[in-house]
Amino acid sequence: MRSALVLNATYEPLSVVSARRAICLVLLEKADVVADDGTTIHSERLSISSPAVIRLRYVVKVPYHRHTAMSRRAVFARDNHTCGYCGQAADSIDHVMPRSRGGQNVWENVIAACRSCNLRKRDRTPDEAGMRLSTLPRAPRELSWITFAVQRVPDEWKPFLAQAS
Ligand SMILES: [Zn+2]
Repeated sequence: MRSALVLNATYEPLSVVSARRAICLVLLEKADVVADDGTTIHSERLSISSPAVIRLRYVVKVPYHRHTAMSRRAVFARDNHTCGYCGQAADSIDHVMPRSRGGQNVWENVIAACRSCNLRKRDRTPDEAGMRLSTLPRAPRELSWITFAVQRVPDEWKPFLAQAS
Protein backbone atom coordinates (compact mmCIF):
# COMPACT_ATOMS: atom_id res chain seq x y z
CA MET A 1 0.00 0.00 0.00
CA ARG A 2 1.41 3.37 -1.03
CA SER A 3 1.52 6.16 1.53
CA ALA A 4 1.21 9.89 1.21
CA LEU A 5 2.73 12.59 3.36
CA VAL A 6 0.21 15.13 4.64
CA LEU A 7 1.43 18.70 5.07
CA ASN A 8 -0.28 21.34 7.12
CA ALA A 9 -1.34 24.48 5.23
CA THR A 10 1.89 25.89 6.66
CA TYR A 11 3.87 23.09 4.89
CA GLU A 12 4.73 21.50 8.20
CA PRO A 13 4.60 17.68 7.94
CA LEU A 14 1.54 16.45 9.83
CA SER A 15 1.01 12.79 9.23
CA VAL A 16 1.28 9.85 6.90
CA VAL A 17 -1.86 8.37 5.36
CA SER A 18 -2.61 5.78 2.70
CA ALA A 19 -2.65 7.04 -0.88
CA ARG A 20 -6.35 6.17 -0.97
CA ARG A 21 -7.08 8.36 2.05
CA ALA A 22 -5.03 11.16 0.48
CA ILE A 23 -7.15 10.96 -2.67
CA CYS A 24 -10.31 11.23 -0.55
CA LEU A 25 -9.00 14.41 1.06
CA VAL A 26 -8.24 15.85 -2.37
CA LEU A 27 -11.63 14.89 -3.79
CA LEU A 28 -13.34 16.42 -0.74
CA GLU A 29 -11.40 19.60 -1.55
CA LYS A 30 -9.74 19.54 1.84
CA ALA A 31 -6.27 19.20 0.37
CA ASP A 32 -4.27 19.73 -2.81
CA VAL A 33 -1.72 17.46 -4.38
CA VAL A 34 1.75 18.95 -4.00
CA ALA A 35 3.67 16.05 -5.55
CA ASP A 36 2.53 12.82 -7.15
CA ASP A 37 4.46 9.62 -7.41
CA GLY A 38 4.21 9.32 -11.18
CA THR A 39 1.57 6.63 -11.18
CA THR A 40 -2.13 6.85 -11.83
CA ILE A 41 -4.91 5.31 -9.81
CA HIS A 42 -8.01 4.30 -11.74
CA SER A 43 -11.47 3.92 -10.38
CA GLU A 44 -14.75 3.38 -12.18
CA ARG A 45 -15.29 7.01 -13.03
CA LEU A 46 -11.97 8.74 -12.89
CA SER A 47 -8.23 8.49 -13.12
CA ILE A 48 -6.16 10.47 -10.67
CA SER A 49 -2.43 10.86 -10.12
CA SER A 50 -1.43 8.93 -7.05
CA PRO A 51 -0.50 11.60 -4.50
CA ALA A 52 2.87 11.37 -2.77
CA VAL A 53 2.51 14.65 -0.87
CA ILE A 54 -0.68 16.60 -0.18
CA ARG A 55 -1.19 19.90 1.59
CA LEU A 56 -4.27 20.72 3.63
CA ARG A 57 -6.21 23.83 2.68
CA TYR A 58 -6.67 24.76 6.32
CA VAL A 59 -4.30 25.09 9.24
CA VAL A 60 -4.37 22.31 11.79
CA LYS A 61 -3.14 23.45 15.17
CA VAL A 62 -0.60 21.07 16.63
CA PRO A 63 1.01 21.14 20.03
CA TYR A 64 4.37 22.88 19.95
CA HIS A 65 6.24 19.77 20.96
CA ARG A 66 5.11 16.77 19.02
CA HIS A 67 6.36 13.52 20.40
CA THR A 68 6.75 10.42 18.35
CA ALA A 69 4.25 7.90 19.65
CA MET A 70 6.05 5.03 21.26
CA SER A 71 5.34 1.62 19.88
CA ARG A 72 7.17 -1.66 19.65
CA ARG A 73 7.85 -1.02 15.99
CA ALA A 74 9.13 2.51 16.64
CA VAL A 75 11.48 1.33 19.40
CA PHE A 76 12.95 -1.30 17.06
CA ALA A 77 13.36 1.34 14.36
CA ARG A 78 15.07 3.77 16.75
CA ASP A 79 17.46 1.06 17.95
CA ASN A 80 18.14 -0.35 14.46
CA HIS A 81 16.67 -3.69 15.50
CA THR A 82 19.79 -4.43 17.52
CA CYS A 83 20.11 -5.32 21.18
CA GLY A 84 21.10 -2.35 23.35
CA TYR A 85 23.26 -4.66 25.48
CA CYS A 86 25.12 -7.01 23.14
CA GLY A 87 24.46 -5.70 19.61
CA GLN A 88 22.84 -8.90 18.33
CA ALA A 89 19.52 -8.87 16.51
CA ALA A 90 16.81 -7.72 18.92
CA ASP A 91 13.48 -9.47 19.22
CA SER A 92 12.12 -8.02 22.43
CA ILE A 93 11.81 -4.77 24.33
CA ASP A 94 13.53 -4.31 27.66
CA HIS A 95 12.54 -1.83 30.34
CA VAL A 96 15.83 -0.51 31.70
CA MET A 97 14.26 0.12 35.10
CA PRO A 98 11.90 -2.87 35.25
CA ARG A 99 8.19 -2.15 35.20
CA SER A 100 7.78 -4.33 38.29
CA ARG A 101 9.89 -1.75 40.11
CA GLY A 102 8.13 1.33 38.88
CA GLY A 103 9.98 1.77 35.57
CA GLN A 104 7.85 3.68 33.11
CA ASN A 105 6.87 2.74 29.60
CA VAL A 106 8.55 5.78 28.05
CA TRP A 107 11.18 6.28 25.35
CA GLU A 108 13.90 6.94 27.92
CA ASN A 109 13.26 3.66 29.72
CA VAL A 110 12.89 1.18 26.88
CA ILE A 111 15.49 -0.41 24.66
CA ALA A 112 15.46 -3.11 22.02
CA ALA A 113 17.02 -6.29 23.37
CA CYS A 114 17.70 -9.82 22.28
CA ARG A 115 15.92 -12.61 24.05
CA SER A 116 18.96 -13.90 25.88
CA CYS A 117 19.91 -10.48 27.29
CA ASN A 118 16.31 -9.90 28.30
CA LEU A 119 16.20 -13.27 30.09
CA ARG A 120 19.54 -12.68 31.73
CA LYS A 121 18.60 -9.23 33.01
CA ARG A 122 15.21 -10.28 34.40
CA ASP A 123 13.78 -7.69 36.81
CA ARG A 124 17.08 -6.08 37.62
CA THR A 125 18.67 -2.82 36.58
CA PRO A 126 21.61 -3.08 34.15
CA ASP A 127 23.97 -2.32 37.07
CA GLU A 128 22.56 -5.09 39.23
CA ALA A 129 22.73 -7.52 36.33
CA GLY A 130 26.29 -6.48 35.46
CA MET A 131 25.16 -5.43 32.00
CA ARG A 132 26.04 -2.28 30.13
CA LEU A 133 23.81 -0.27 27.79
CA SER A 134 25.61 0.65 24.57
CA THR A 135 23.61 3.87 24.28
CA LEU A 136 21.27 5.74 26.57
CA PRO A 137 17.73 5.48 25.26
CA ARG A 138 16.24 8.79 24.18
CA ALA A 139 13.06 10.03 22.59
CA PRO A 140 13.60 10.20 18.83
CA ARG A 141 13.95 13.48 17.01
CA GLU A 142 10.73 15.27 16.21
CA LEU A 143 10.19 14.08 12.66
CA SER A 144 11.26 10.50 13.23
CA TRP A 145 7.66 9.36 13.30
CA ILE A 146 7.58 9.90 9.56
CA THR A 147 10.40 7.51 8.86
CA PHE A 148 8.90 5.02 11.31
CA ALA A 149 5.59 5.09 9.43
CA VAL A 150 7.05 3.75 6.19
CA GLN A 151 9.67 1.23 5.22
CA ARG A 152 11.44 3.73 3.00
CA VAL A 153 10.94 7.49 2.75
CA PRO A 154 9.85 8.28 -0.84
CA ASP A 155 12.06 10.76 -2.72
CA GLU A 156 9.07 13.04 -3.27
CA TRP A 157 8.80 13.58 0.50
CA LYS A 158 12.38 14.57 1.13
CA PRO A 159 12.25 18.28 0.21
CA PHE A 160 9.43 18.78 2.72
CA LEU A 161 11.15 16.90 5.51
CA ALA A 162 14.45 18.70 4.99
CA GLN A 163 12.67 22.04 5.19
CA ALA A 164 11.08 21.15 8.49
CA SER A 165 14.05 19.69 10.31
ZN1 LIG B 1 21.58 -8.98 23.64
